[in-house]
Amino acid sequence: MKTIGLIGGMSWESSAEYYRLINQATRTRLGGQHNAPSLMLTVDFAPIEALQAAGDWDTLGERMAQAARQLEAGGAECVVLCTNTMHKLAPQIETATRLPLLHIADATADAIKAAGFSRAGLLGTRFTMEQDFYRGRLEQRHGLSVLLPEAAERDTVHHVIYQELCQGVIRDASRDAYRRIIDGLFERGAQCVILGCTEIGLLIQQADTALPVFDTTRLHAEAAVAWSLVSEPA
Ligand code: GLU
Repeated sequence: MKTIGLIGGMSWESSAEYYRLINQATRTRLGGQHNAPSLMLTVDFAPIEALQAAGDWDTLGERMAQAARQLEAGGAECVVLCTNTMHKLAPQIETATRLPLLHIADATADAIKAAGFSRAGLLGTRFTMEQDFYRGRLEQRHGLSVLLPEAAERDTVHHVIYQELCQGVIRDASRDAYRRIIDGLFERGAQCVILGCTEIGLLIQQADTALPVFDTTRLHAEAAVAWSLVSEPA
């Protein structure tokens, strides 16, 4: 297997899931004592979150480029950025090293299309839901149509991510709120829902809703394992 490089810590609650899912998927595929060779570079999320809130994406781009360079120097052979939001900085990461960036939106869109859906609801941070770097990729590159929650609902989804899930807080009331928001997306025509933030899977699982759920953390982790196996030289 090739060595998977992970940029983690945004937040570490979801990075821990990536680690578990990548190694679990590797064992499922290869059996026995197999796990995935990997390197995780963990950033401290507090200054990252402050820079996001301040809109200082230039500094964030430099931080992510530096993280990718550290992974490359350590022997990683690809970059897996363990957050949807920070894919806003995919271009800066891609130009920082020669390593391929396995884009989370591509892994997600491929799974949605393989399941035969074309109209997906999207839950994530306000950055992910409202800016073009993510939705635009799903729509333009993959031909999906994306439905968003209403503005007040987007505030709720965003607030729960930063104030609860990224801090390891899981509340039933927030799960109920998310379920209502997912129901609203279904009523407006969504065929499935994208858990477009890597912590949402800690709150919502398939059993919580009738709408098919696409968990970006799981799909991204599985795509990383597939890449590292397929890219192995014969
Ligand atoms: N992990 C989150 C995501 O997937 C949010 C934290 C962040 O801002 O990176 O978007």
